[in-house]
Amino acid sequence: MRWSAYYTAAWCAGVSILALSVFLVWKQRQEGSDIARVSVVNTAEVLATQVESSLDLADALLQSVGRRYRGDARRGSADSAQLAEEVRMEVQSYQPVSRVGMVNSNGQTVFNTALRTPFAQRIDASNLDYFQRARAGEKSLIYTEPLRSDATGEWTLTLARRVESKQGVFLGVVYATIPVRAIGKVFAHVGVGAQGSINMRTAALAQVVRCPELPGANSDIGNRNVSQTIQDLMRSKPGQTLYVYKAVAPIDSVERMYAYQKFDHSPFWMNVGRATADFDTAWRQTAVLLAALTLAMSAFLVWGARRLTRQHRDLEHRLREQSLAKRALHDSEQRFRRLFHDSPVALCVVTEAGVLTDRNRRFNLLFGYSPQELRTIDDWWRLAYPNADYRTEVLQSWNSAVASSVRDNTDIASIEYQVTCRNGGERTILISGLILGDGILATFVDITDRKMLEDGLVKLNAELEARVANRTAELQRSNRELEDFAYIASHDLKEPLRGLHNYASFLQEDYADKLDDAGKNYLERMQRLVERLTALIDGLLAYSRLGSVDLLRDAVAVDSVVDGVCQDLHVFLREHGVVLVRATPLPTIQCNALRVREVFQNLITNAAKYNDKPDKRVEIGCREGPVPVFYVRDNGIGIPAQHHEAIFRIFKRLHEQRKYGGGTGVGLTIVKKIIERHGGHIWLESVPNEGSTFYFTLSENP
Ligand code: ADP
Repeated sequence: MRWSAYYTAAWCAGVSILALSVFLVWKQRQEGSDIARVSVVNTAEVLATQVESSLDLADALLQSVGRRYRGDARRGSADSAQLAEEVRMEVQSYQPVSRVGMVNSNGQTVFNTALRTPFAQRIDASNLDYFQRARAGEKSLIYTEPLRSDATGEWTLTLARRVESKQGVFLGVVYATIPVRAIGKVFAHVGVGAQGSINMRTAALAQVVRCPELPGANSDIGNRNVSQTIQDLMRSKPGQTLYVYKAVAPIDSVERMYAYQKFDHSPFWMNVGRATADFDTAWRQTAVLLAALTLAMSAFLVWGARRLTRQHRDLEHRLREQSLAKRALHDSEQRFRRLFHDSPVALCVVTEAGVLTDRNRRFNLLFGYSPQELRTIDDWWRLAYPNADYRTEVLQSWNSAVASSVRDNTDIASIEYQVTCRNGGERTILISGLILGDGILATFVDITDRKMLEDGLVKLNAELEARVANRTAELQRSNRELEDFAYIASHDLKEPLRGLHNYASFLQEDYADKLDDAGKNYLERMQRLVERLTALIDGLLAYSRLGSVDLLRDAVAVDSVVDGVCQDLHVFLREHGVVLVRATPLPTIQCNALRVREVFQNLITNAAKYNDKPDKRVEIGCREGPVPVFYVRDNGIGIPAQHHEAIFRIFKRLHEQRKYGGGTGVGLTIVKKIIERHGGHIWLESVPNEGSTFYFTLSENP
């Protein structure tokens, strides 16, 4: 995915939301902590005040009882039963004081509101701590450490006051007992959270009462089990009336925010603690909520950014395509303009209303009319075809061409017109056109020069044809003359040759005894030469005869022709030890039987002659096809490729005269001529020392 501005924006927004959430959570946590702090401080203060006022009340009662006891003592009334009764009544309205008692100067209990008076036996309190302190002269209110009653098992706090006469004589001690549970009851109604705690401790940090109570030894009243934190705090900052701190309580291992509030004038500390877990939950919930929200928002932002990016990319793509298309359109328009204006063909555009809106350079150059002269199609008809009759003709043919083009949805067919130019000259123009949506694009091809050339060519062609006909006739005549000459010449040459031969024979027969060996030898050689010359002339005669005679054709069974040849050559073939093979049957075709016989005779003779193999073999056959291809194959000496054409020339032999039984070198020339007169042709395939195959056809290819 490509990073885009949208992602950056989404990222920034996400980070902002996260930062805001973190700030809010931090703030809430901070606030939670602050609230907890204020709450513990306030609660500790209120509770301290409340408990202290209860203690003050109890003190007021003690002072009042002390005063009355002193009055009784002054009056000498030793019976304190009445006082005890009064106090018993009063105590009930001095909650949480459970009982008040009076100890005389000897340490004997005078009365105790919890017990009926007079006592059967007076209780001795002389060795109690508060009594001894009071007797020793301590005038202020005496508080005892929490004590456990042996009788009831109840924990109590005792407040005591020295009673003395006006002269300062020690009269005894008045005391009040407050069950710590009763103080704890007050705390039970104060909300400090599920895991909060309220603790009242003495100045020496001994526990007086804890709410809620803890099971087990830790809940023991009188314990000094406080955290190291407060011990350190009190040590490092002595004299403070309030300590606020966070610590893990050693008795239950719960972390709390604590406030230690010193009582105003009593030797107690009020300790209120709120568990961190209690006031910490709100910010945690908010954090979870905000985290979920942030996550959702981030997902939404990413989704949005992704969507926007895709839309943006699509838009960009579309814009790019549009601009490319625009450029392509512009380019193609430019190209078209250039094509139109620089076209070597004259072009003009005519609107449906008949106005010539555009014409290219070639058009102006070709016809020479200025745009002012040629505004409409009517101007064109008038100027280009000044002859009224011709104009009518042109108009008709053009209109019908346009009509059929519209009907068939094709281009307007090219029509040739004689157009008059501005300079008065006439040009032959090929006019065609293309129907555009709102007009016609007319094209004008100047074919004046081509026309002239064509006319010239037609004339030249006719001349050439006449010339060729003349030459052919001449050639045929000269050929005929040549053949006649060859015939006459060879015919006439034979006459003196025959004489020469005769006279040579006479000389041999009649003057043999008069001639020496050399003479005889010369005569023999002369006779051989005469014979050879005769043979050559015969060949020439035969060849020249071929040209003069008309070639008559019949349906000829070539098989029977070859049968005849084989019969004729039977002895010759046997002498040469040749095996003749008729590979395929030969067809019946239109040909001249006599000439075809000559062809086979020549080819078979050559095949037998030019063969030095002990097992000479000549094969005759035909390959069927559109035109039958005859062949004569031998396993003879073969013919090198460079001689494949030369052997068909007259008198051409590849060997010295006497070799391979001699010959005139006319045979193949005659064969070729016969074949060509039939309209066929001859060719060969040969491998020297392996053999040759002569192929030929006897008619033209279909
Ligand atoms: P010739 O009277 O010498 O046989 P041809 O015109 O028949 O005259 O043949 C021309 C020459 O072609 C021959 O002299 C021979 O050298 C060569 N020739 C013709 N036929 C064959 C063949 N079947 N195999 C090899 N050489 C051949």
